[in-house]
Amino acid sequence: MAFESLTDKLQNVFRNLRGKGRLTEEDVKLALKEVKMALLEADVSFKVVKQFISAVQERAVGEDVLNGLNPGQMVIKIVNEEMISLMGSETTEIKLQPTNEITVLMMCGLQGAGKTTTAAKIAGKLKLKGRKPLLVACDIYRPAAIDQLQINASKQEVDFFTLGSHADPVDIAKASIEEARKKGNNVVIIDTAGRLQIDDIMMQELVDIKNAVGVHQTLLVVDAMTGQEAVNVASEFNEKVGVDGIILSKMDGDSRGGAALSTKAVTGKPILYVGMGEKLSDLEQFYPDRMASRILGMGDVLSLIDKAVEANAERDAEKDREMAQKMKKGKIDFEMYLESMKAMRNMGGLSSIMGMLPGMGKISDDMLPDEKQLARIEAIVLSMTPEERKNPKLMSPQRKFRIAKGSGNDIADVNRFIKQFEQMQKMMKQMPGLMGDKRGFGKFG
Ligand code: GDP
Repeated sequence: MAFESLTDKLQNVFRNLRGKGRLTEEDVKLALKEVKMALLEADVSFKVVKQFISAVQERAVGEDVLNGLNPGQMVIKIVNEEMISLMGSETTEIKLQPTNEITVLMMCGLQGAGKTTTAAKIAGKLKLKGRKPLLVACDIYRPAAIDQLQINASKQEVDFFTLGSHADPVDIAKASIEEARKKGNNVVIIDTAGRLQIDDIMMQELVDIKNAVGVHQTLLVVDAMTGQEAVNVASEFNEKVGVDGIILSKMDGDSRGGAALSTKAVTGKPILYVGMGEKLSDLEQFYPDRMASRILGMGDVLSLIDKAVEANAERDAEKDREMAQKMKKGKIDFEMYLESMKAMRNMGGLSSIMGMLPGMGKISDDMLPDEKQLARIEAIVLSMTPEERKNPKLMSPQRKFRIAKGSGNDIADVNRFIKQFEQMQKMMKQMPGLMGDKRGFGKFG
């Protein structure tokens, strides 16, 4: 799958950061050095990597992190934010004219990049939006391209236009606009010829079509699998023809991530869509934030950080500090266990929280009480004496019996609760860095 290696490497870096209570400037530098290596290996352009790392470093080494509440989290957050901004921050749509006018889109790209396929994919998307697209075959050099476009047009149930392989591409484009007027198509999608390499004649042809029919949006398709080469191609097309938006095809392959991360930064042009397969439905809108979290392999850990910050905003800092210290040593007591379960419930349910944490997949559900059991746990803990709550070792059969009775439970329920508690205790010991530093508890980082 795409990005696997990059994601693995980044996760390693963050795992090491999470293992530390407090980060020094040296820790941050070392971590970023590894991030840098990982990005270079993923074929992100050197210039982009350099800018990215210095942007992260500048923010990470600042006061916010070193004197912040939870430095490990801050680094992840900053890397994520900088990655999003590298990829353009916002989702960009193809700009369309009002429905009563004809929008002319021109597809371009090297041969084999996925132009013809993507043209048909886009036609399908626009049809779903209520537009009436006309697919136009201007690739006269590769007769198979005309057939391919025609077949795809009929699969998508959209109109198709060709003048065969002997007409001039500019004439075909002009005639297609007439055809669109006659047939009432409000989007014309022109598929153009590609070459194996950038070539002046091809570029000139694109410029000619563009000028002849007043193309509104020039859409460039580049093959994500080619990494930095895709970015170079995008730069050249943009310089010579002018590109409005980029589609990264073949993102379903084992692309290393370089193209997705560098294209916007190098060309200044947004990625509109990503191709996720050969089927005509395999075209996805490009969301920089989703892509960043996919590359980081963090699932929704960032939203978890936000939730945790919110849920703990009103918590008593002193108490938190004390709890975090104990948790780091694996010294949790029943009271803390109850508190932690309640805090997790406030954050939106246990399983969803656990699912968001990288490396937490191993925790089986039976280790964690469900929502109903939480009420039971609360009753059990409240039936303990303050000493018992603070010192789990005091638990004797007699005490358990008393607690079971007092909380309206069976002795088996109390035993189950204690077992769950012990499992949690064990888990805490294994993950010393999980629970942040200063205001630690609940700020998984
Ligand atoms: P063109 O020469 O640029 O018009 O490229 P084509 O549209 O003919 O595509 C070249 C090959 O790439 C075809 O076999 C397509 O099925 C394949 N292709 C296009 N887009 C994607 C994609 O997003 N994922 C995968 N896996 N294959 C794609």
